[in-house]
Amino acid sequence: MRPTTGRNFLFVPGPTNVPDRVQRAMLVAMEDHRSSKFPDLSSSVLEDLKKVFKTQAAQAFIFPASGTGAWEAALTNTLSPGDRIVASRFGQFSHLWIDMAQRLDFDVEVLDVEWGEGVPLERIDELLRADKAHRIKGILACHNETATGVTSDIGGLRGVMDAADHPALLFVDAVSSLASIDFRMDDWRVDLAVSGSQKGLMLPAGLGILAVSQKALETMRGATSRRCYFDLADMIAANASGYFPYTPALPMLYGLREALDMIFEEGLDNIFARHHYLAEGVRAAVTEGWGLPLCAKAPHWYSDTVSAVMLPEGTNGAHVIDVAFRRYNLALGAGLSKVAGKLFRIGHLGDLNELMLMGAIAGAEMAMLDVGVEVAPGSGVAAASNFWRANDPVPKRKVSKEQQFYEAHSTGSVQG
Ligand SMILES: *Cc1c(COP(=O)(O)O)cnc(C)c1O
Repeated sequence: MRPTTGRNFLFVPGPTNVPDRVQRAMLVAMEDHRSSKFPDLSSSVLEDLKKVFKTQAAQAFIFPASGTGAWEAALTNTLSPGDRIVASRFGQFSHLWIDMAQRLDFDVEVLDVEWGEGVPLERIDELLRADKAHRIKGILACHNETATGVTSDIGGLRGVMDAADHPALLFVDAVSSLASIDFRMDDWRVDLAVSGSQKGLMLPAGLGILAVSQKALETMRGATSRRCYFDLADMIAANASGYFPYTPALPMLYGLREALDMIFEEGLDNIFARHHYLAEGVRAAVTEGWGLPLCAKAPHWYSDTVSAVMLPEGTNGAHVIDVAFRRYNLALGAGLSKVAGKLFRIGHLGDLNELMLMGAIAGAEMAMLDVGVEVAPGSGVAAASNFWRANDPVPKRKVSKEQQFYEAHSTGSVQG
C-alpha cells in the first residue's frame, strides 16, 4: 500500500467534493430541533431550495434519506397501486426507478432505449396521443442519467405532453442535474422533482430532496399507496411552523444553508456555464486527446456533469478504475450493470475547477496506460488545456482603458 499523502482525488459523479466552507458549517454541536430558534434555519433552507429548482409555485421537502428515498416519496404520495405510468430506461438510474415503481405495484410501461440515448420524445408522444381515456397517470423521466452521461430534454417532454393535451403528472429525477445543469421546475411545469444532497448541492449523502407542484399536492389526497415515513401530509403539517415530524439531520441542514449561500454567491446561471465549460474540456480530453468515444451517442445527449468514457474491446474499465485508485489515489466512476467493464466515468459536478479536473484527466490517462489502453501520454491533458485556455467560462465584463488604469492604481480606499 502506498503512503496516503496528499489528497484523494474524488471524481465519482456523487458523492462530490464537499467545499471546506460547507464542511466547517456542519461542525456544530447538536441542539434542540424543537427550540424556538430552529425554524429560522429550516424555513430558510426550504424557501431557498425553491430558487434552486427555479420554482415559486411548488413546495420543497427535505427528508433524512437519499435520492432513492425522494423517488419513493414522489411515487407513493401521488399514485395508487395499479396506476399506469410510462418510464424510459437507458441506464442504471432510470432502471432502478422503474424497478422501484414495479415493486410498489404500479403498472409501468417501460420504454427501453439504447444506453447512450435519453428520453424518447417521439415514442412518448405516440403513447400519449393514443391514450384518449387518460389512463396514464404519470411520466417518469431521468433528467441526467448518471450511468451513461446522458442529459434529456425535459422542456421538450413537457412540450410533448402539452401537445397531446395530456394531464399525466411529470416526475423528474434531477439528482445529478440540480444545481449543475439548468433545471426549470415552473417553466417546464414539472410536478415532482427529485434530488439528493451529495451531487450538485456539494454535501454528503443524507438528504432526500423533493419539490412538488400544487397539482401534485392536490393529487395526493386521492392517492392510496401505503406511505408512512415518506408521507408528505405529515411533513406539510410540521413544516408549516418550521419543524419536522421526526428528528432532522441537523448538521446537514447547516451544511445545506452554507451550500445554498455559495450557490447564490456564484449565481445559478454562472454555475451552469461553469459546468458546461468544464465538461467541454473533459470531452476534448476524451475524444480529441485520447481518441475514445463517449457513451452518449450524440452531442445533444452530452451531460455537463458526468462523462462516460468507452474503452476499446479487450480492455476492462474495472482495471482502469482499480489502478487509478490504488496507485494514484484517484476515484473514478465504474460502469454499472449493462455497461460494467466497458467504460469508466469522470464526474465533473459540484465544487470543481480546471486544475482539479486536470488531476483526474492525468490520473485516468496514467491508469489507462498502465493497463494497456493505447492513448498517447499527455494527450488528454493537452486537449483539455487547449480548450480551457481558449475559452472563458463566463465572459468577462468589458472594461474601458480609463477604468483599467483607475483599478490598477486604486488603493482600495476609493469605491469605484
Ligand atoms: C445518485 C443518483 C440517484 C440515487 O441517489 P441516492 O442518493 O444514491 O439514493 C438517483 N438518480 C440519479 C440520476 C443519480 O445520479
